[in-house]
Amino acid sequence: MERLQKVLAHAGVASRRHCEELIVQGNVQVNGKVVRELGTRVDPQVDKILVNGRPIRTEQPIYLMLYKPTGVITSVSDPRGRRVVTDLLKGIKERVYPVGRLDYDTSGLLLLTNDGELANRLAHPSYEIDKVYRAWVRGVPSQDKVKKLATGIQLEDGLTSPGEAKLLKSTPTKEKALVELTIHEGRNRQVRRMCDAIGHPVITLERIRLGFLTLEGLQPGQYRPLTSTEVEKLK
Ligand code: URA
Repeated sequence: MERLQKVLAHAGVASRRHCEELIVQGNVQVNGKVVRELGTRVDPQVDKILVNGRPIRTEQPIYLMLYKPTGVITSVSDPRGRRVVTDLLKGIKERVYPVGRLDYDTSGLLLLTNDGELANRLAHPSYEIDKVYRAWVRGVPSQDKVKKLATGIQLEDGLTSPGEAKLLKSTPTKEKALVELTIHEGRNRQVRRMCDAIGHPVITLERIRLGFLTLEGLQPGQYRPLTSTEVEKLK
């Protein structure tokens, strides 16, 4: 048995706070009765729980880590019929959604889950999860420029918040360099725009780490469920 607001949040109805409001305002029914008390304990597998007259999702929560290849859209469907990340999942009957997004041309670590509460929390900048990217960029950025990537870059939608940046290597011809960037935000095409802003456009981009999670043991296109210890650590 769990607290009603927790069950609702887990089912992806809304944030825990918003679920509390829904309960207090009388939008939630359990077994045919409106329940306004926040402490109410329910069993999501047994009790019939409705929000605004509609049943909540009662599937088991599932958490997957995918090594997204390039050439796949971070979405569950595409009106133009292009390949989407959920096309890569075989035998997964739960409806999972990507947590955040990676561009079509970006590869790397992507979480997929049906746990709306965790997905919202992870995607929120206040969670401050490390997102670590490796980018091959055109040319070799100076140490000053690398430092700027870390301290903050003025983009159209504002200054990027502080992170880390390292120059890992460059080709002997100085044609390209490998840069590792750790950021905590998830703005649209953020790494590409940051690299553009210092005059070293991205050639290829991969997310290699998300918090403590790495791609170890996976090849592009492969995925695995998170262990229960990993899920607990993320929460
Ligand atoms: N930054 C980008 O520019 N693209 C991604 O896919 C992720 C981060």
